[in-house]
Amino acid sequence: MAEAAVKTAEPAAQAERELTDGFQLVIDALKLNGINTIYGVPGIPVTDLGRMAQAAGMRVISFRHEQNAGNAAAIAGFLTKNPGICLTVSAPGFLNGLTALANATTNCFPMILISGSSEREIVDLQQGDYEEMDQLAIAKPLCKAAFRVLHAADIGIGVARAIRAAVSGRPGGVYLDLPAKLFSQVMDAEAGAKSLVKAIDPAPAQIPAPIAVKRALDVLRSARRPLIILGKGAAYAQADDEIRALVETSGIPFLPMSMAKGLLPDTHPQSAGAARSTVLKDSDVVMLIGARLNWLLSHGKGKTWGAPYSKKFIQIDIEPKEMDSNVEIAAPVVGDIGSCVSALLEGMGSDWPSPPAEWIAAVNARKEENIAKMAPRLMKNTAPMDFHSALGALRTIVKERPDIILVNEGANTLDLARGIIDIYKPRKRLDVGTWGVMGIGMGFAIAAAIETGKPVLAVEGDSAFGFCGMEVETICRYRLPVCVVVFNNDGIYRGTDVNPSGGPDVATTVFVKGARYDKIIEAFGGVGANVTTPDELKRAVNEALDSGKPTLINAVIDPAAGSESGRIGNLNPQSMLRKK
Ligand code: ADP
Ligand code: MG
Repeated sequence: MAEAAVKTAEPAAQAERELTDGFQLVIDALKLNGINTIYGVPGIPVTDLGRMAQAAGMRVISFRHEQNAGNAAAIAGFLTKNPGICLTVSAPGFLNGLTALANATTNCFPMILISGSSEREIVDLQQGDYEEMDQLAIAKPLCKAAFRVLHAADIGIGVARAIRAAVSGRPGGVYLDLPAKLFSQVMDAEAGAKSLVKAIDPAPAQIPAPIAVKRALDVLRSARRPLIILGKGAAYAQADDEIRALVETSGIPFLPMSMAKGLLPDTHPQSAGAARSTVLKDSDVVMLIGARLNWLLSHGKGKTWGAPYSKKFIQIDIEPKEMDSNVEIAAPVVGDIGSCVSALLEGMGSDWPSPPAEWIAAVNARKEENIAKMAPRLMKNTAPMDFHSALGALRTIVKERPDIILVNEGANTLDLARGIIDIYKPRKRLDVGTWGVMGIGMGFAIAAAIETGKPVLAVEGDSAFGFCGMEVETICRYRLPVCVVVFNNDGIYRGTDVNPSGGPDVATTVFVKGARYDKIIEAFGGVGANVTTPDELKRAVNEALDSGKPTLINAVIDPAAGSESGRIGNLNPQSMLRKK
């Protein structure tokens, strides 16, 4: 049927009928489903797709490298709950986008990687086509679902399936393979319009079972030292009011994972962020809301969690298979976070007892102690800066401008910023996520500016910035209100390492000393600044945020200030032979 529909019409008949083609149908299918932005890199065979999408009123943001476009699409998905679209050329472009697709899937961000591909007949016989690669087979194990569309009449179904796969259940990445030949297939415009599908309710509510809700409340009621952990799934769910109500009604201390910061302000009296190790160790019942017990939470066991004492876990998650993935879950609540949290709230009623006062007092005491210990380090105004004094300046700026979006990556730059910079509103902190991947910064910053229209502050380690730095041209080209601060400590972790052999090469972890990253943005007409003290840094960032001009600030950090692998040095095996 599809075959018949796409046969090229006789020239005479063509003149009478209105025709459409694969390019147009892809655009129509996306628009019909409320998708109006594409992040990508043009080239064979998708150049005209980008042009036509722009002509059709879509926002088409062209990047310098597909990985950054893919990261942009992924974070657009996180911010909007609609799949972000990344568009690439075949083989190499596809592979560049694939890293971002796999990362999106790992982080439960909905995105669709759409790649053009070469002639099926030649690829499958391995006859050496232009950019030959069996992309569908390669994408499959790295994403939630992968589809290929061969006939223009199936584009509507293909796009609808891709959208549903990306946003339903646990969100994730989807690959959509569109061979070059598909784009120029012609079909009757009316039949084409009829073939399009608007996905109705693509992420349906998933209501938890009443018995699961009751079980969870029973466990929670039995707690002497309860804790709530909020993960980025909770931020993604956009059930902000319900989550806040649950936390406040329960009176339980909460700990936000890094991208869940701001769901409730970090300055909230129940925030246990500054008492993290104490609450993980000493709590007896822990309710996880959209957070996995993976490496970031020490798998829910061991010393971090106060072993040999065991805890009871309540876990709210849309993915049933997540339960018991690392430790036993005493009360699994499977469903979407909005529905689960509402059901729990209803079950709690208005006379839910506050947690024992000794527990709250213990948490608060530790919090105050840690905050007091940190305070003087954040206020030093010396040159060169260390991480604390530089971040102290940025912390004040975010406090004064709680609407800006903070993007953050690096090693020390990431770990310390996470603890030091308070976040006040939901989905205002975007970072390296589950993999701790480097290079998300510019893609995330660009998409955050495009999707929200809000100013963005990207705080980047000099190494992390190197993975995506060319996109400052993209920031300038689209005149985005992005201020990039590069924490320049001359290297990876530190800038002071030396080549142990004494040979002519520098150490493997150092970069050019005294580099001026600010010059990069000046090449594209943006504003560059070089700062050496917290006061200068504050002034330069405020100026950038006031003007909305693309800005890159080179913040000179003491090359000796960093520590190896930041806070996760324990994951970096070190040879006993090296120290000989
Ligand atoms: P963090 O790293 O912040 O701890 P994770 O990425 O580990 O967060 O966990 C996010 C969890 O949230 C995943 O297990 C995912 O299945 C879940 N999740 C995502 N969206 C929803 C939703 N709308 N409702 C329920 N759970 C969700
Ligand atoms: Mg560095």
